[in-house]
Amino acid sequence: MTHKNNGVATNCIHAGEIVDQFGAPHTPTYDTTTFKFSSTADMLDVIEGRKPGCFYTRYGSNPSITSVEAKLARLEHAESAVVFASGMAAISATLLAHGEHGIICLGEVYGGTWELMTKQLPALNRHTKFLKAGDSEGLKQHLAAGCSLVFFETPSNPLLEIIDIALICSLAHTYGAKVAIDGTFATPINQQPLTLGADIVIHSATKYLGGHSDLTGGVVAAADDMLEPMHVWRKNLGQILAPDSAHLLARSLATLEVRVVRQNSTALHLAKVLQQHPLVQQVYYPGLENFTGHEIAKRQMNGYGGMISIIINGDGAAATKMVDGLQLFTLAASLGGVESLVSQPALTSHRDLSPAMRQSRGITDSLIRLSIGLETPEDLENDLIQSLSEV
Ligand SMILES: *Cc1c(COP(=O)(O)O)cnc(C)c1O
Repeated sequence: MTHKNNGVATNCIHAGEIVDQFGAPHTPTYDTTTFKFSSTADMLDVIEGRKPGCFYTRYGSNPSITSVEAKLARLEHAESAVVFASGMAAISATLLAHGEHGIICLGEVYGGTWELMTKQLPALNRHTKFLKAGDSEGLKQHLAAGCSLVFFETPSNPLLEIIDIALICSLAHTYGAKVAIDGTFATPINQQPLTLGADIVIHSATKYLGGHSDLTGGVVAAADDMLEPMHVWRKNLGQILAPDSAHLLARSLATLEVRVVRQNSTALHLAKVLQQHPLVQQVYYPGLENFTGHEIAKRQMNGYGGMISIIINGDGAAATKMVDGLQLFTLAASLGGVESLVSQPALTSHRDLSPAMRQSRGITDSLIRLSIGLETPEDLENDLIQSLSEV
């Protein structure tokens, strides 16, 4: 059923699916923690790898889990994929497994990742150097000093900064370092970092992969030798994705291509509309030709994604007025679901930073982040225009 040359939409639906003895057209939910054996010899055959079989769900040995992992590996052009209970579980397992010789973090990263790198990992002897995305001299210097893992997001949150994946990977590899990319904003539909030279790609499956704001999960895709040590962390930190969530994730991935393509086109349209609006000072969207990272995005992405950030003319209170005036966009954390969401980063994700720090990172009070969902595009456009007219 699954051929090497199938298209991505076909792989979203068919890759990894297990047809069981009853003929279900997709993998059923194996909501079980353990698996029975007919004899000790039979059990040892499975444990010692002489026979296929499942043993214990926390180890990742459960068909609902391995089936969605096979689908994700195919979508990322990876040897294998490993799923986790959340995006942060996936990131922490990656950094624990591969960060012991020093981590270089390029550009802006998710708040949880930053907290993990600055407050928790140092106690476990994993130290991170933070560099601006374009600081290639600093990057070379730390690579030369022996840092062995480069980590970044592209596009990044919330300013959609684009980092040149192929360029950073070839530089890191000349020093023998590995590159891990958090590709949550792009999804494997819009960007496949492993094909551009990256060693590890990570997603918060809570966002686009789940896509319906109803499951929490994470995934890492890479070559088997990179995933091997992560398996052990996942097992002993107990970071496994629950089988019913794995099933829900597989169900959601079936429509990933359709959802992302639609979100790409609606977001591009809305970004252009917003750019023309007199009350909008700046639009951050990689698909706009005057956006700083546009040329790189055009090279390394198939679509520009469903996230848009804007700065409106006015202060933080004016931005709050716009946010509160939206009727279709829901005020909520998170992104990537079928529902359009809105947030004001200065009051939410970047609330704990000092105003000076926020300013230096471009997180102004009047910055608004939009996650474009699957509603009728004209309805979203009308909602944005009406809320801007009330500011
Ligand atoms: C949400 C998010 C995470 C964390 O994912 P969880 O599933 O909430 O743990 C990591 N990276 C990015 C870019 C995110 O948007």
